[in-house]
Amino acid sequence: MRISRKLLIVAAALACGSQAVAQEAGSLDALLQQDVRLATIAERMMGANQALCRQQMPLTGMIMHSLDQYTQGGQDAAFANGPIAVSAVIPGSPAAAVLQPRDGIAAIGSTPTSDMKADGKSPVRDAVFAALADQPPQGPVQLKIVRDGQERPVSVEARPGCRVLVEIKVADGLNGRSDGRVIQVNYGLATVATDEELAVVFAHELAHVVLEHRRRLKDAGVDKGFFGEFGRNQQLNRQVEVEADRMAVHLLANAGYDPRIAPKFWRSSLGQRTSGGLTRSRVYPSAEARAALIEREIADYIGSGAGPTYPGHLLARRDQPFE
Ligand SMILES: [Zn+2]
Repeated sequence: MRISRKLLIVAAALACGSQAVAQEAGSLDALLQQDVRLATIAERMMGANQALCRQQMPLTGMIMHSLDQYTQGGQDAAFANGPIAVSAVIPGSPAAAVLQPRDGIAAIGSTPTSDMKADGKSPVRDAVFAALADQPPQGPVQLKIVRDGQERPVSVEARPGCRVLVEIKVADGLNGRSDGRVIQVNYGLATVATDEELAVVFAHELAHVVLEHRRRLKDAGVDKGFFGEFGRNQQLNRQVEVEADRMAVHLLANAGYDPRIAPKFWRSSLGQRTSGGLTRSRVYPSAEARAALIEREIADYIGSGAGPTYPGHLLARRDQPFE
């Protein structure tokens, strides 16, 4: 799950025969472009739904990366100010007002990033992200950056949002996934999805985070994977997918999207391939069944077709054991 980009580039090229995707995404600019697109949609949704999330963090519009995420060369310029750097900023965000791509990040709050370490397969970027997410959600976030070789303090305004690391994964399957701490959307899906379609995919993954599915499945002793397709495991894994689909339309509506883009997406050719591609397994309802279920949720709870909406009926399940 938490695999660095360099490993993903290799894995994608070897496992899927996706040399083209690996090479195209291996071009840093192409990858960063999709990172910014996804982060723009993600921060909009994480901010608008912060009241629904029990774990929060400051949203600044800053996207970070670390040198140890890459194997291929050609990133020297991106890391000229240090091995942990701003990769991009969301246009119009607080970060865009004071930070630039290639700024090195020397400290988050009072902790030097040189004290932060990579952990197993997780790049040092993940440790830096955790330090950022631990800052007060209301902001401002205090950083020490390096620009043109000079260290300087910077204060970045922030607003509270749901706490989760969001990233493009270098792989070509039509997939998104979340493990409660990280949401990944495959490069191959991001490049063919419109912004609205990407928002639908992201909303589903964020819904898993909001509903704390990872923890709840763990508490219930459920595995994903092969054994997840059978018996009680199958039933509970399917239950969380249904919950996530229902929650996703509330997250979309609160962020100003028309929630009807969700059933429209799951019925589209891309949506059907994304839904089927997730596992081909019995864990997921069919695309049509998903779309119909989502339409019922909208009709029952978001009659006007617009937010704000407070899905208390779904949030209450966080503190109830699975049946
Ligand atoms: Zn899901």
